[in-house]
Amino acid sequence: MSKKLLIAGNWKLNGEKKDISFIKNLVKFNSIKLSKNVDILICPPFTMIDRFCQLTQRSQIQIGAQDCSEHDFGAYTGEVSANMLSDLNASYCIVGHSERRLYHNENNNLLNKKILNVQKNNIKAILCIGESLLDRRNSKTLRVLGNQLNGALKNNINPNLLEIAYEPIWAIGTGLVPDYSDIEEVHDYISNKLEKLYGKKSKKIRILYGGSVNSKNVFQILSIKNVGGALIGGASLKIRDMKSILKQFI
Ligand code: PEP
Repeated sequence: MSKKLLIAGNWKLNGEKKDISFIKNLVKFNSIKLSKNVDILICPPFTMIDRFCQLTQRSQIQIGAQDCSEHDFGAYTGEVSANMLSDLNASYCIVGHSERRLYHNENNNLLNKKILNVQKNNIKAILCIGESLLDRRNSKTLRVLGNQLNGALKNNINPNLLEIAYEPIWAIGTGLVPDYSDIEEVHDYISNKLEKLYGKKSKKIRILYGGSVNSKNVFQILSIKNVGGALIGGASLKIRDMKSILKQFI
């Protein structure tokens, strides 16, 4: 089954009022170049989701969050719930980015709760998984990824509201990209694992690659078997780079 690619920008801790021009520019670009082959997603900080959702309402561009709480509401100072994201019309939520795992000690149990919460609110979860450089050097990559998938995807996760992003930690923001044959091996492994978990329904799940994707390498990476899109950090912050990435697929 051929799927639309998903090209997603993760803005991390970047984005202020002045950056609203980015989304206006992207909407204009999208109105000229309608995309049949690609779903376009931008995940700005929480503070910009509402405005971005309003500005993209009549376009094909979707807006998502970079994280959310595992709780619905209540005494959890500083948290933002999936219900709140749904109230703003966000359609995706990244869960388990390696920076959340590393700086906020997020483990697979917690991520499982977050995914369940996201899906309960009819939002698609993008579960990030990835190995460290040490894991790769010790040939533990597939074992680590398998554990991350088993841990985060238990308790009746809905495969229809799920995407996976394979992001080797050592490739994020470093300019390093795995050999393409290694990306293929990992995506093949994830695809088989999802098939075991969800049968035919797994075919709808896109497996994105993330880690130093830019306008020069994106086409080759997205041509690799079982790569269903890209999760892009640094290069998603500049409208020129984003357009040059998107133009290669629409
Ligand atoms: C990311 O933030 O998920 C990411 C892959 O970043 P970068 O593209 O900058 O490596």
